[in-house]
Amino acid sequence: MRYSELFAPTLREIPAEAEVVSHRLMLRAGMIRKTTSGVYSYLPLAQRSLRKISEIVREEMNRAGGQEVGLPIVQPAELWQETGRWAVYGDEMFRLKDRHLREFCLGPTHEEIITDLVRGEVQSYRQLPLLLYQIQNKYRDERRPRFGLMRCREFIMKDLYSFDRDEAGLDVSYQKMYDAYCRVFSRCGLQYRVVEADPGAIGGTGSHEFMVLAGSGEAEIAFCDNCGYASNVEKTETRPELWQEGLSPGEKELVATPGVKTVEEVSRRLNLSPKDIIKTLFYETDQGPVAVVIRGDREVNEVKLKNKLDCLWLEMMGDDRIRELTGAPAGSVGPIGLKGIKILAESEVPLLVQAVAGANQEGYHYRGVNPGRDFPLDVVADLRLIEEGEDCPKCGSPLGLTRGIEVGHIFKLGTKYSSALKARVLDEKGQEQLMIMGCYGIGVSRTLAAAIEQNYDEDGIKLPLPIAPMHVIVVPVSWQDEAQRSAAETIYQELNARGIEVLLDDRQDRAGVKFKDADLIGFPFRVTIGPKTLKEGKAEVKDRRTGEVQIKKIVEIADYISDIIKEGLRANEN
Ligand code: ATP
Ligand code: MG
Repeated sequence: MRYSELFAPTLREIPAEAEVVSHRLMLRAGMIRKTTSGVYSYLPLAQRSLRKISEIVREEMNRAGGQEVGLPIVQPAELWQETGRWAVYGDEMFRLKDRHLREFCLGPTHEEIITDLVRGEVQSYRQLPLLLYQIQNKYRDERRPRFGLMRCREFIMKDLYSFDRDEAGLDVSYQKMYDAYCRVFSRCGLQYRVVEADPGAIGGTGSHEFMVLAGSGEAEIAFCDNCGYASNVEKTETRPELWQEGLSPGEKELVATPGVKTVEEVSRRLNLSPKDIIKTLFYETDQGPVAVVIRGDREVNEVKLKNKLDCLWLEMMGDDRIRELTGAPAGSVGPIGLKGIKILAESEVPLLVQAVAGANQEGYHYRGVNPGRDFPLDVVADLRLIEEGEDCPKCGSPLGLTRGIEVGHIFKLGTKYSSALKARVLDEKGQEQLMIMGCYGIGVSRTLAAAIEQNYDEDGIKLPLPIAPMHVIVVPVSWQDEAQRSAAETIYQELNARGIEVLLDDRQDRAGVKFKDADLIGFPFRVTIGPKTLKEGKAEVKDRRTGEVQIKKIVEIADYISDIIKEGLRANEN
């Protein structure tokens, strides 16, 4: 292809709206344009990379025994009502009505659709296992769409669902997917980490996330260099720290703390550590309001809280409601004397002997508070976020924290959907058994963004060869120069003939402009034809990722580059 025909409007200035590198660079390289919040158009260069990622995913799903299907995006409410998710999916679901006022949604995921399909067609255990997948747009009305392709409202996902006759079968399917995911992300040339993920209210051990390591990632990962353990902090187990050891209970006493609101302020005023203070947080949940008490220096882990309560949703209570419940503003609230509200205590709270807590009177706290004696501990559980340097739950060594972008998520569903939708098979004895399911997602468009977060420099994008939009750009320093033009045309034709994806920069622009665009878009190889080397029948070959420059005979260049590229791509496929 010729540059003059390419639809890739590059930008020199840095777009103000873009918060992360991948978003900025994809806009600047003319790869994407925003249509509306969280909805993007993919221009040809992005589309090429997305297709390459999809193709790697497809090959690996097929290799693992998956079969590709195409499922509807428009999904009837009835199926979602059957599993109960129509009511609980909430605002993230795009809902619509047809002309008969029947309700539908745009598929945010496909458990309902696929289980419905399979229950109608599969009757015998002999038809299992079954691994079905698709690569398709998904729709989620995210609360905060952001970071370009990272968190969109319309995005591309590969979703695979496994159906097995028993748990042992699920374990096999799950392992196949685990291995296939490792191959996918290795083949994309990414550095990633597999972490244990929160399996949600269903429980069990079966959930892993595939994280591309990047500082801009929204997910936080706890990892142990000693034993290799890694998990999403949402799920990392904590060990309670001993504090106030050996202290004896004392009298509870009311102290005036006018104008003091935060844990910091309370601890400074009373000359105590934040660890001596009990923080009380209020949540609305679908099971009614709850209060969570936690040591002043810790943060609540809402995922653990949700699992402990086994609730479908929860959110922090608003100030007015807190005042209504406690009679005090948020800065003076505490667990003592609360009526008709369940109190969940984080595991470290019962270890406190003489703590400070809000008195539910504006401007007052209690000191000498003894948990259990002065307020009930309805539930005691690990409800907090792990901190850097705390003990690894497996081996006790200090944990590190790092950030990652979740590009894949695999999940043992068990019978959650097969029981709701009555998807059963007959076993050898003619008995009905629920099918055992797993689901496995890869964010294809998010993977492209994550790949750029990991592969860029100050000049632009440097995607790995297997997912770069094109392989080579041929740049004559001056298009007007007859000799340069004809040498460039020759190399271009020869590369094309060898099946290499090559762009000929036939623009009249200055060389500097052309080099900048080449670096910005990130062609793995740039062939530059300039007057000096051309006199000797040579041209320059530059490797975008290493920056290495080689001067090669023009007659040899096509073979030289196509050998490297083919070798690189072949190695990738094995
Ligand atoms: P997140 O926690 O980031 O919202 P999720 O747990 O909701 O992700 P899944 O339902 O497991 O995601 O979806 C499978 C994959 O789809 C994710 O691993 C991610 O790569 C991708 N994905 C999910 N939501 C989005 C989104 N809003 N934009 C782009 N990709 C997404
Ligand atoms: Mg999500």
